[in-house]
This record gives sequence, structure tokens and C-alpha cells, in this order.
Amino acid sequence: MSDDLAAGSLALTLDITAASRADAAGIAERQSRRLAALFRAASAAPRYRALAPVSPHGAVAPLTDWPITGKRELMRDFEAAVTDPEIRLTTLREFIGVPERAGSPYLGRHWAWESSGSTGEPALYVHDAAAMAVYDALEATRRDSPRPWQRCFDPLFLGERFAFVGATGGHFASHVSVQRLRRHWPWAAGGWQCLSILQPLAALVAALNTLQPTILATYPTAAALLADEARAGRLTLRLQEVWTGGETLGAGVREFIEHAFGCALRNSYGASEFLPIAWECAAHRLHVNADWVLLEPVDAHGRAVPPGRLSHTTLLTNLANRVQPIIRFDIGDRISLEAAGPAGAAGDAGTGRCACGSALPVVQVQGRRDDTLVVRGRHGRPVALLPLALTTVLEDEAGTFDFQLLQTAADALQLVLGPQAARGARSRERCRRALADFAARQGAEGLRISTRAQRALPLGRSGKRKRIVALAQKGC
Ligand SMILES: [Zn+2]
Repeated sequence: MSDDLAAGSLALTLDITAASRADAAGIAERQSRRLAALFRAASAAPRYRALAPVSPHGAVAPLTDWPITGKRELMRDFEAAVTDPEIRLTTLREFIGVPERAGSPYLGRHWAWESSGSTGEPALYVHDAAAMAVYDALEATRRDSPRPWQRCFDPLFLGERFAFVGATGGHFASHVSVQRLRRHWPWAAGGWQCLSILQPLAALVAALNTLQPTILATYPTAAALLADEARAGRLTLRLQEVWTGGETLGAGVREFIEHAFGCALRNSYGASEFLPIAWECAAHRLHVNADWVLLEPVDAHGRAVPPGRLSHTTLLTNLANRVQPIIRFDIGDRISLEAAGPAGAAGDAGTGRCACGSALPVVQVQGRRDDTLVVRGRHGRPVALLPLALTTVLEDEAGTFDFQLLQTAADALQLVLGPQAARGARSRERCRRALADFAARQGAEGLRISTRAQRALPLGRSGKRKRIVALAQKGC
């Protein structure tokens, strides 16, 4: 296939299908070809012209010669790090500032979303149409379905009633993606819905009961909460599949969700820097879409860690997006990465392939383990406050990113504000009020919320900061 990504979706799908069956050498060949094209495209951006490693005789420098970068550098030098000179941070901020525009193109040709992530630094991402076509084709081609026949006839899931439950109040990657597909195929819009995780649980359950989705896509903590509602008989769905992502999924939680809904669950791994990083196969392993995205697990000094060893963080290189090149970008996740073959019982050392037949590398993701807080509600009934909802309230409604929320008693929370947060009396009150209003909407009663500032927020045992910490796990 030509590296002109606009070559067409059929050629793209054929290439992705071929790469799905390719061996490690076939995947490596695609990586090096696309990396060279990415470097050429990146040279149109002043920042990358300055950063590009110099290599003798005009040869393409290896990826590991490029400097590590991150959200702070991206935002500090934003306009110099994009290849479309019409992109302006002011117009992008204006665009992102209107929630109703989620799913429509920025400048009529790019797709944009915002992200804060666990490191607490908000960033803005722009993806071109060719990159979006790659994400779509990867989802349609590689996402393993427990109902393979259904997928043969409907690879884009357009005949499904699809409910995404998550953060819907702004331009967040998952929300934008669903809204974009709804606009692209308006005849399917009735069956595709985004439901806010911030609404009272009873309202969310009622909306799902009305929509009757066949596929539910959400975060593991939200899926577990909804599974609890199903078990109690308040949520009555006939789901065919549950999709999860965004947080760590434990084996016990998976079993609970699958049992409560009576269907299979498929997990995935994605990021704002590249949407569909990895998909779960029938052997329950997460395969990286390594023909389009490169992951480098590294230690605290940016040095590569060996296969199968847990990294300190991960550097991501996006081989599909040319408008905002993402090269060796620190995404903050701790992962271990290994070849599909030799690991455990699910791989075959002889063929270098997983039991599912794929030679794409396998990733395990650690971290993203914020807690669900269970607080006292009306009539003594416990109320669950989801971690994603709590962080969205603090980030979106209170404008605070550097924090840790600790549960100190069944009816008490303490918000600890870090050095990057505005910590004046008015800011503290805005945070407290936003949390109190949200908790009250969920049915909490008599919840005491205190705030305090701290010079540095503690890191957990994993080396990453846990932002939402439940009562029993305060020491984590
Ligand atoms: Zn597999």
C-alpha cells in the first residue's frame, strides 16, 4: 500500500487485514516505512525541524535518537508542533469550548479533543482525516467480537444499539469519536447514544432501560456499578457485548460484569495520542496495533526495559497522524510488552504467534486504578461515586487538575490540592461545592468535604499518583 493515507479506505482495510496475518518481519517492515514517512511529514513543523536528530549521509535517524516529549512541551510550543499552519491555539480553544461541536471537524478537516490524564496536565490533540480513517479501519477490522458472524455483515457495528457511558460534557476522545460516527451515519444515530456518567445513577439506569443497547461501552468501574444495578433487577438489558477501556480491569471484576449481564466482555487500551492502541483477542490478551502505533516501555531514565518487564512509563509514536506528529510521547502508563509467541500458555514459541493466530505484540497495562468511593446515602443506603465522574467534576466544573481526593470516613472526603492547583479560598470553595453538588445528585447525604493544600502529592506504590483513594486503601 502507498503511504499516501488518502489512498482509500479499501486499500487501508486490505493492508490492515494483511498485517493482521503477517509475521513479525511483515509488521516491522510497515513500521519502518511509516516511521520514515512520519519523520518527513514532521519536518513541516518548526519544532520538529529543530528537534530532528541529525544523521550522517541523509539516512533516517533511528527513533531512539529523538528526544522524549510530553504534554507540557506539546502545549508550550503548540503551534510550532503542528504541520497545518492554519491551526491556531486560540481558535482551537474556542472550538473545544463549545461542547455541542464535539464530533464535528475543526477547520472543516481535523478532529480535536482534550485530555488531562493521570498526570493532570491538560493537553489538546488534533488528528487528521487520514489518521481517523486508520483508527476506524483498525476498530472495524481487528476488534475481536464474541459474535463473529454478526461482524461479517456489520463490521462498523451500525446495526447495533450502542450506548457509551462516560464523560460527555466536553471534547473527550471517546465522546468525540461516537459523536463523529453519529454525524457521519445519521441514519444510525437513533441507536447510538452517549450517556453522561455525571447524572444520578437512577437517571442513567432509566435511560439505559429505555435505549435497550445491545452493546455497552464504558469504564470497568462504571460497568461494575451497572452490573450491580442489573443484579438488583433495576437495570434490565439484553446486552450482547460489553466493551471496557480506560482503567485497569481485574479478573474478578470482569467475571462479575460478564455474569451479571450474561454476555462476553472485550477490553481495550487506548489513549488521546492514539485511539485504538490495543484490542483483546479471544485468548484474553491485549494485542498492540503495532503496524500503526509504536510503544516503548522505558525506565525512569528513559532507557528501554526488556520484554515482559514492567516499565516506569511508556513512549508512544503515532504512525498515522501527520498534522500533529506524536513522536516518543510520554503517556504516563506503566506497561509490559512482549512478543505474541513465547509468553505463557497463550502463545506458541515456535510460530511466534498467540493462540488466536496474531503475531502482534502483547501488552499488559498497569495503573489507572482509581477507586470507587462508597459513601453514606439517604435511608442508610450506600452510594457509589465513580472515579471518572469525580475527576471529571473537579477538572471540568472546578477547573482543578492537580489534586488527590481521599475518603477519610463513610461520610467524609478530603480534597488535597497540589502545588499546580489554584489554592485560594474561592478556588477551594468552588471544588468543594462541585463535589458536594455531584455527590448530592447521586443520593449521598450528610457528606463532609474538607480541603487542604499540600506542597507535594504522594505517589502510590506503583510510582504513579492515585487520584481517588477509598477509605480502606488510603495507604496506596
Ligand atoms: Zn491473541
